[in-house]
Amino acid sequence: MVNLKDGNGDLEQFSAVERFKANSDGLYGPIPDDLAAPVDHFQDESVQLLKHHGTYQQDNRDLRKERKKEGLGKLYTMMVRTKFPGGRLSSEQYLICDGISDRYGQKDMRATSRQDFQFHGVVKGSLRPLLADLNRLAGISTLGGCGDVVRNTMANPIADIDPAYAKCGIDLMALAGRISEETMPATKAYFDLWLNDEKAVVNPDGTVVYAKDLKRATEEPLYGKQYLPRKFKVGICTDFDNAADVYTQDFGIIAVTKDGAVTGYEILTGGGLGYTHSMEKTYPRAATPLAFVQEEDILPLLMAVVAVQRDYGDRKDRKQARLKYTIDRMGEDAFREKVYEYAGRKFDPPCGVQPSDQCYYLGWHKQSQEGLNYVGVWIENGRIKDFDGGPRFKSALRTIAERFKPDMRITPHHNMVLANIADADVDAVQALLDEHGIPTGEALPPLRAYEMACPALPLCGLALSEAERALPDVMRKIMAAGHAGAEVSIRMTGCPNGCARSSSSEIGIIGSGKDRFVLHTGGCHIGTRLNELFAVNLKEVDLAPAIAQLLDLWKAQRDGGERFGDWSKRVGVKELRELAGYASDGKRT
Ligand code: SF4
Repeated sequence: MVNLKDGNGDLEQFSAVERFKANSDGLYGPIPDDLAAPVDHFQDESVQLLKHHGTYQQDNRDLRKERKKEGLGKLYTMMVRTKFPGGRLSSEQYLICDGISDRYGQKDMRATSRQDFQFHGVVKGSLRPLLADLNRLAGISTLGGCGDVVRNTMANPIADIDPAYAKCGIDLMALAGRISEETMPATKAYFDLWLNDEKAVVNPDGTVVYAKDLKRATEEPLYGKQYLPRKFKVGICTDFDNAADVYTQDFGIIAVTKDGAVTGYEILTGGGLGYTHSMEKTYPRAATPLAFVQEEDILPLLMAVVAVQRDYGDRKDRKQARLKYTIDRMGEDAFREKVYEYAGRKFDPPCGVQPSDQCYYLGWHKQSQEGLNYVGVWIENGRIKDFDGGPRFKSALRTIAERFKPDMRITPHHNMVLANIADADVDAVQALLDEHGIPTGEALPPLRAYEMACPALPLCGLALSEAERALPDVMRKIMAAGHAGAEVSIRMTGCPNGCARSSSSEIGIIGSGKDRFVLHTGGCHIGTRLNELFAVNLKEVDLAPAIAQLLDLWKAQRDGGERFGDWSKRVGVKELRELAGYASDGKRT
């Protein structure tokens, strides 16, 4: 095993991103120079570093050809991603985000599958004012929203209000907050670049000129000067609700309960869904059990795992850099030993518990607090926007936030929970949802309640195909084929990076090229098992008929209440292909 310990190796042999991070003085790099330049985009080195500040440079891919014909370059904008541990924010913070999206973005917000908001369409000159407003007005940080650090910590977003948690003895959302604080990068660059007015002069054209003594190398006790080899994801769930899809996390925490009280925590490591088509050395991996611990041991164990990944993760090849590959290279036993060496102690072996459900929280629920209620509001593909002739999500949420001041939570399925609504206000809130055309209760077909899609085109630079813009039509066609009532999780992503966790759904649709998709089946609705490749080379127009056919077969052959994912896993890919008329390579015969 080669020790790639920070500074213990020749930087030249590492990937370019590693060199950018190492030479950035703690995430400053050339960002100040790029912000001072009167151009509409950042250079590559800054683009890579900016991710750690919570922002990606993107361009509108729909317009590339047209602009090229007109002799114009790409239309660049920035995407900004917040961090909300457990997805929680107040109605005041929500309203500030709503206003920010109007002022600096494309006038909508994207609730993500990691319980964040994304603001899209932010021009370079608006980046600093947007980040300053988010931090100063709303107390919301984006530091570590993206990049090679611990990302937003996920948790069941109703853990402090749902009666099922009343006897837990611990607030799991507060635990998410503690993990977030402890793993936040220590760099001063975020403050200096976006918030420190003493160090910056903002010109009327949006360029920013910084003081000459701006850059200070910052000690990063957890991350070191090169930060992690790749992103690192943490999620918390319970043994009765795997909402945070912990098997997809680098570090998954399952609160194990007995008679409602937490008895300890099963720790999983090495989950991760991203892979590259036709590159066998890349693959999705479900997290595997590492240890069983008590509450006070969670953070020390997490820090040890992060440090092992920092020191032993692959820094030469970013496609091999996630923790899942580190574990598989080392072997699970050697990895566990190394983690225990870093932690300075051993922990109990895993207890083998698996969650028994995955909840979506849609509709009305009584809270454990007397006289209060929460409602889960379905947001089509997480896009908080007023759709022409369709649901007006943005207006509805703004109105409810202004009038009723609910606590707000983004769910792991990119929906919203509105909490602390008094009994007396329930009817009025429901009336507002109805008035804005948002389907709730029986008006929301079960098939659509479980769907997820990633943003993909036109802004994601990695998208191979459509996702968010295509899924609603695919779902409408599946419903028209008689399957509106099917309780099946269908998730679609525009590439195999898995931002909508397509590999842990019962049916996964994954973009493989321009108007080309692969279809996966056999996943588990609880998220404890990944799905498998079933069909390849499907066009968008093929998706609904292909899925409707599978649902027909399932309904005809299932064993009682057997879920689609369990049925398709039992039948197996080989027989399923024969039954549905696909060749052994997954192509339609
Ligand atoms: Fe982009 Fe791929 Fe993520 Fe979708 S899954 S948002 S296409 S990187």
